[in-house]
Amino acid sequence: MRVVITGGAGFIGSHLCEKYLEAGHRVTCIDNLLTGVEGNVAHLAGHQQFEFIRHDVSKPVFVEGAVDRILHFASPASPVDYLNLPIQTLKVGSLGTHNMLGVARAKKARFLLASTSEVYGDPEIHPQREDYWGHVNPIGIRGVYDEAKRFAEAMVMAYHRAHGLETRIVRIFNTYGNRMRLDDGRVLPNFMGQALRGEPLTVYGTGDQTRSFCHVSDLVEGIVKLMESDSPEPVNLGNPEEVTILQFAKEILELSGSTSQIVFKPLPQDDPRVRKPDITRAKQRLGWEPKVVRRDGLLMTLEHFKKRIQLESGKH
Ligand code: UDP
Repeated sequence: MRVVITGGAGFIGSHLCEKYLEAGHRVTCIDNLLTGVEGNVAHLAGHQQFEFIRHDVSKPVFVEGAVDRILHFASPASPVDYLNLPIQTLKVGSLGTHNMLGVARAKKARFLLASTSEVYGDPEIHPQREDYWGHVNPIGIRGVYDEAKRFAEAMVMAYHRAHGLETRIVRIFNTYGNRMRLDDGRVLPNFMGQALRGEPLTVYGTGDQTRSFCHVSDLVEGIVKLMESDSPEPVNLGNPEEVTILQFAKEILELSGSTSQIVFKPLPQDDPRVRKPDITRAKQRLGWEPKVVRRDGLLMTLEHFKKRIQLESGKH
């Protein structure tokens, strides 16, 4: 198959590029490197089946030749990134999704949208099931991401219903692993970077808020399964193992052996109080559930960050 991955130089996108190449497919990665990093796919550059196109998919997109699958992953995805890039975030979720659906329609390709647990906003039901419509502040600072992704889901369903396009929607919950940017502002790279550098860990608010962290290897396996399933309805993918942010900080201190302190900072606006996926649908329709336990995944990720920090300090 020929597979097009937008945002292919991003954290999750680059793992998808690898996964499809390993399975013997041709991969075209499209990325404007706004938050993606060329180094994430540098090791694939020599691969005969791999092609990199630097392009902003919010602008018209032309792809030559046949395409079988499109995975639309282009978007800033960390709260700090989309706070700094609000208009680009809205554009790639809306115009970018429309452009890529147009390519899918022209090529008769199957289309998968990277959606998010953020469509549930600050949820009033717990854990979150796919039939929950969410609780989103459209004009808050997170609205640029949440509403762009909600619009994108609506657009995908419209192409499915109006044009009979084969579509899939994955709602991705907090995911971690190698190739997250250390400076993307999310909790895991922040805490690990701080622990490894001996700086205080910055817990926002009281740290009572919860998240549930899925290792990227589990996530990409679920995404490929979803793509090859026959479910046009959204499917949650994430790890239901829930933890408070304060507990998470303590875990990272313990696993890294760091003696850093924990300091408390103000809670950002509209920060969801709780988050945990109900993955019944993924289990039933895809036969999928995560395998990597948090402790093992965190230890692997700490090793990656340790190497990266050592490389960085060697350069200076
Ligand atoms: N958080 C924190 N310290 C940090 C970064 C984030 O306590 O240095 C908190 C944040 O307020 C949120 C949770 O950790 O409650 C997860 O934040 P993240 O930015 O990773 O993504 P989110 O799940 O909110 O989209």
